[in-house]
Amino acid sequence: MAEIRLHNTLSGKIENFAPQKAGEVRMYTCGPTVYDYAHIGNYRTFVFQDILRRFLKLRGLKLNHVMNLTDVDDRIIANAAAASVSIRDYTAKFVQAFFDDCKTLSIESPEHWIRATDHIDDMVKLIQQLQKKSFTYPGDGSIYYRITKFPRYGKLSKIDLTGIQAGARVDNDRYEKESARDFALWKAPKPGEHFWETPLGPGRPGWHIECSAMAMKYLGETLDIHTGGIDLAFPHHENEIAQSEGATGKPFVRYWLHAEHLLVEGAKMSKSQGNFFTLRDLFAKGFKPSALRFALASVPYRKQLNFTFDGLQQASSSVERLRNFADRLKQGKFPAGRRAGMAARIVRAAEEFDAGLSDDLNTARALAAAFDLVREANIAVDKGEFRQGDVQTVLDFLATFDKIFAVVEDDDGEKLRALGFGSGGSGLSDEEIDRLVAERNAAKKRRDFATSDRIRKELADRGIIIEDAKDGSVRWKRK
Ligand SMILES: [Zn+2]
Repeated sequence: MAEIRLHNTLSGKIENFAPQKAGEVRMYTCGPTVYDYAHIGNYRTFVFQDILRRFLKLRGLKLNHVMNLTDVDDRIIANAAAASVSIRDYTAKFVQAFFDDCKTLSIESPEHWIRATDHIDDMVKLIQQLQKKSFTYPGDGSIYYRITKFPRYGKLSKIDLTGIQAGARVDNDRYEKESARDFALWKAPKPGEHFWETPLGPGRPGWHIECSAMAMKYLGETLDIHTGGIDLAFPHHENEIAQSEGATGKPFVRYWLHAEHLLVEGAKMSKSQGNFFTLRDLFAKGFKPSALRFALASVPYRKQLNFTFDGLQQASSSVERLRNFADRLKQGKFPAGRRAGMAARIVRAAEEFDAGLSDDLNTARALAAAFDLVREANIAVDKGEFRQGDVQTVLDFLATFDKIFAVVEDDDGEKLRALGFGSGGSGLSDEEIDRLVAERNAAKKRRDFATSDRIRKELADRGIIIEDAKDGSVRWKRK
């Protein structure tokens, strides 16, 4: 097997990966800020970290992976106050939606799901540690981090510190400025907003201290891997480093991995541009969870992903190709024995698949390895050259493939129904159903029963029943 190589934002290089403790990986992922429904750009990052953890597990490594729910945030506090509800009540709906979405996209649960509101004490203690070491100063009831006290500030994002003004401070958790500024560790309460009474005084934690405190509580002072979207590298992750390393004097994270942005039809996604999509928006348009997962996973994580509806349609076809192939092997009857060279061909595909993923999670290369094999095996089947003795070996390869990509096993119907799609409405227009029925009839005519059965099942999953009449005509109806 190839050495696992990952791009480390800290060094700017692709490095060999080895965890500090043999066989076990300590990993932290910045989770969603639960003030709204997460969008497909967020899920690009979450699918990336899912592929990463699945690959590390496939390589026999034990994962200790923590993902947080940021439920203390400027926007959450303000929105909850405006609605006169508690933080828990305000965020409950979005937290549930996020868990549902993850399940729908086959994103594995990390070993620890944690919430910022459950860890206020840990954040207070970390701020006290920083106070003792003079990394902080007070201002109007808030507590700020003094960046000039941490000379390594900027090492992750390579931000230019020449323009830094000592003592210039910022209260917002998120800031666009290209210059680094002292940030709030603890924020004084604002009238009408939720706050905690703590030894630091009344108030609430800043966003950055949340991740430092929670990551170190569960994973120790030095993590193996920290992941997030590239937009978090500055200021969020830079500030996490400053806080954690300031307090402990030890390296906080050994490998920083960041996923690139997602564009929609070549443009930045934004609500005002009308190109902003949640998962539910796409399911309502009739797309399946597997197609979306495939589309998000197919572009290597360090490349910008241009999300298009054509691309999503292609992803859907790719998933169908894999599923049809698996069905063809499972249902087909082939001559006994093994085909000369086939076993070696499958080994080569498995090696190339592994080599692709080892190469900084080059998912495009790993997918190509699988589709090359599928194409060649399909040709062998068409020519009557495929042998029964090779069936299980190819299915085993597909099973390994699915441990990472998780799209061959078809549970789209159940997932959509669980979200409330597919039972009330199919999400398909009459024209789309007519087209699928015609495709199914054509498949049946050429005796491609794997495809015809798949289309029948797909329609059934969406509540469409096909009826074959005795005279050979075909009708469909909605359940
Ligand atoms: Zn974070």
